[in-house]
Amino acid sequence: MDAGTDIDLISPGWVSRRAAALARLQRFVPQAGRAYAASRNFDFGPGDRSNVSALSPWIRHRLILEEEVLGATLQRHSFAAAEKFVQEVFWRGYFKGWLEHRPQVWTRYRADLLAGLEDLERDAGLRDRYEAAVGGRSGIDCFDAWAQELVATGYLHNHTRMWFASIWIFTLRLPWQLGADFFLRHLLDGDPASNTLGWRWVAGLHTKGKTYLARASNIARYTEGRFDPAGQLATAAPALSESAVDAPLPPQFDAVPRDPGRFGLLVTEEDGQPESLDLPGRPSALLGLAATAARSPMATSEGASSFAAGAVADALSRGAEAFGSEAAGADGLQAQAEDWGAGLVHWARSHDLSVIVTAAPAVGPVRDCLTAARPVLADAGITLLPVTRRYDRAVWPYAAKRFFQLKARIPKLLQNLDLNS
Ligand SMILES: Cc1cc2nc3c(=O)[nH]c(=O)nc-3n(C[C@H](O)[C@H](O)[C@H](O)COP(=O)(O)OP(=O)(O)OC[C@H]3O[C@@H](n4cnc5c(N)ncnc54)[C@H](O)[C@@H]3O)c2cc1C
Repeated sequence: MDAGTDIDLISPGWVSRRAAALARLQRFVPQAGRAYAASRNFDFGPGDRSNVSALSPWIRHRLILEEEVLGATLQRHSFAAAEKFVQEVFWRGYFKGWLEHRPQVWTRYRADLLAGLEDLERDAGLRDRYEAAVGGRSGIDCFDAWAQELVATGYLHNHTRMWFASIWIFTLRLPWQLGADFFLRHLLDGDPASNTLGWRWVAGLHTKGKTYLARASNIARYTEGRFDPAGQLATAAPALSESAVDAPLPPQFDAVPRDPGRFGLLVTEEDGQPESLDLPGRPSALLGLAATAARSPMATSEGASSFAAGAVADALSRGAEAFGSEAAGADGLQAQAEDWGAGLVHWARSHDLSVIVTAAPAVGPVRDCLTAARPVLADAGITLLPVTRRYDRAVWPYAAKRFFQLKARIPKLLQNLDLNS
């Protein structure tokens, strides 16, 4: 079966191949203008995703690029008509760039998550409430249906993610880090920046003091009456607090030498499009690795793991064809997250490589794995060269503060990226 042919607007299908992403994009683009702006907040349920792009699992793994999504949209619609959709796509780069300025927010989230998991061991009452929430047994119908939908499908509508996080934090009074972890382990689009910062935004930690309160009337309206949790939800959302985060530091982009000699290309779940990377030549060999096991101390879902593994495998086969290079998929994919250093050294030696190039990973598990591998590689005389995409270089510097500052810059960014209609 061709990965793209059975993709319709109602059910995205989420086959982790680039061909499927392109097919979904093509089907969705006619809706990306005023129709999207008018209907995007409705969650019609898992049986109908026709009012949103549902492209996030593919965009997250860069089987399709933000630039491609924006370019196709602006070829079909004027900027004024598609402005809302264009802004949503930029939210992704904004969150990535914001976290690049403050990587300690990720480090702190990971430490707090470990502490939260320990609390679950110690506190039976907390554990019962947590298990009821993730098991879809909280007693709040909408919340329970969404917990089950997330586990079954690996996707939730954006509005529903906001309602879910709000009920988790303000009604069920559970630690936000445990909710973020539940999402990251199950979402096919599980993304360290969008997820961590989406939860922090609801909790009032991103825009200090500004929280998101889920209201029964809003849920009833935007689910077209499928749910109406009247009388079941918290009526106030007092902002959470935390100790101050360090001042932001501008992201650093590594310079890649034009002629690094013979090199191998490492493909990860961060970037499934090796053929369009700005590489310093033709790689001699390709290796694929996925870091889904490092998303959480708990197990990442089968759905999310296999989507990422499929994305890497698809990327490897396209890369091997484009470069005529040897690709190592299956062996690489089995490498343990904590063991990337030894695995990479072994692979590099077996291909006579002293340089490994990779798409620069943003803050998150892949970067954590590579940071741990760096000294092992250096000891073996192997240089790691991360290549940053021009989109990230263009967008991240404007993501230091609030979204509206990036938003004001969008027309100029589109122009600089040659994406104007
Ligand atoms: C608590 C919470 C957790 C989230 N976790 C993730 C996550 O792990 N991974 C993830 O990709 N998104 C996350 N989001 C953002 C958003 O919900 C999803 O990107 C969106 O629902 C994906 O569906 P779509 O592709 O149909 O979006 P569309 O409405 O069609 O939007 C198009 C694209 O724009 C981007 N986008 C849209 N809204 C946002 C947003 N608020 N933040 C960042 N990017 C956005 C996505 O790449 C999306 O595919 C989270 C939001 C919240 C509130």
